[in-house]
Amino acid sequence: MPLDTYRKKRDFTVTDEPSGSIRKSPAKRLQYVIQKHRATALHYDFRLEWNGVLLSWAVPKGPSLDPSAKRLAMQVEDHPIEYGDFEGGIPEGQYGGGTVMVWDRGEWEPESPDVNAALAQGDLKFQLHGEKLRGSWVLVRTKGGYGRPGHASWLLIKHRDDYATGEDIVAERPESAISGKLLAEIAAETGGDVEKAKKADSIAKRRASPLAQTQRSRTNEKAVRRAKAPSKSVSKRA
Ligand code: MN
Repeated sequence: MPLDTYRKKRDFTVTDEPSGSIRKSPAKRLQYVIQKHRATALHYDFRLEWNGVLLSWAVPKGPSLDPSAKRLAMQVEDHPIEYGDFEGGIPEGQYGGGTVMVWDRGEWEPESPDVNAALAQGDLKFQLHGEKLRGSWVLVRTKGGYGRPGHASWLLIKHRDDYATGEDIVAERPESAISGKLLAEIAAETGGDVEKAKKADSIAKRRASPLAQTQRSRTNEKAVRRAKAPSKSVSKRA
């Protein structure tokens, strides 16, 4: 059964995550969701509704709007459709223990004419109609991209279109798509690890400020020049 792996990994008497069901009648509109998840490490869970479940990939760096960026996406177990609404805490010690945010959501539309064949071939083209991610994308399975069983490596890549930009969307838009909250706020409200969540928020903020980065690298350049400078110029300054 498609959700067996998902259910085996979780104790639903302890975690608030849904045990879920397989949606019987195929939905006309297919859900798309990305959940920002600070577990052992921060990652972004990319999910597409298909065959009554959410096909799922863990993207360590999150999506990029830059078509030259290829983001590693490790396929993980199918999740129930209901999981797409889950924002909150997973207790420590449980599978994926940490804080979860619904970072983006909306609908998706296959561009590949036969989705099952595209998945089998490892080359799925699609349109996203989310709040943060839009336009045309592709998931490509890497050659020899089978690591652990059931954890094939794929690459998530933006196609060139009107929605492709150099904007660092993960950094510019760190907030939840359903509540507007940052991860630290969600952690605080659900008894999670606020410090870990704060770090995940601030990693995004550091990336968000090109000016801060420029200033930091200038400071570094100055430090390097000072270190390389002959003693004469040092004494001049002193
Ligand atoms: Mn996850």
